[in-house]
Amino acid sequence: MIIAIDGTASSGKGTLARRIAEHYGLPHLDTGLLYRAVGQRMLDFGLDLSERANAIDIARAFAPSWLEDRRLRSAEAGTAASRIAIIPEVRTALRDFQVLFSRRPGGAVLDGRDIGTVIAPHAEAKIWVDAAPEVRAERRWRELNGNGDPISQAEVLAALIARDERDAPNMIRASDALLLDTSKLDIDATVRAALDLVESRRPA
Ligand code: C5P
Repeated sequence: MIIAIDGTASSGKGTLARRIAEHYGLPHLDTGLLYRAVGQRMLDFGLDLSERANAIDIARAFAPSWLEDRRLRSAEAGTAASRIAIIPEVRTALRDFQVLFSRRPGGAVLDGRDIGTVIAPHAEAKIWVDAAPEVRAERRWRELNGNGDPISQAEVLAALIARDERDAPNMIRASDALLLDTSKLDIDATVRAALDLVESRRPA
């Protein structure tokens, strides 16, 4: 069974995907990490993020070991990821790894932006996770503040809106995806709602 969890930045889709994967004992791939890994390498090599040819070369050389870099969760890596993710050749270069992961025997849970449409259009269960921008910004701000980052809530909101705009062309909600608005849901309620959907789509 393939479970595709797509949605906006800081909507809670990553935590949801992890919890669903744990519940079913399935492998989980956070596909944002692939784009973050390419963005992080651009930063490490001091390359301009708008240099398409460099980003494409790096994406074509992608190795799974890159995903273990702890720095990939940083705000800088996230912004760099969204800058290089708009390059079609980068997306193509990263596609095979994601498709292969989705086809693991027994199934898999993948979260990202285009899993239900591009990577695994035949996924049995598709969920689109979203929340109001202010709610997502507050969650992100709490997380950053907790890590000692003095950034203001307004700055986080502005960065999130800019990211939404950059991601829009590749953030495609599948017509058969269940919309899960987490603005007023805590993570346990979100998981319960998602599990109900997955159960309803599970092959007998
Ligand atoms: O989900 P996460 O915030 O880690 O993703 C980082 C960036 O990578 C996104 O803002 C988006 O630009 C890009 N991305 C993508 N397609 C995916 C996953 C992430 O374009 N499937």
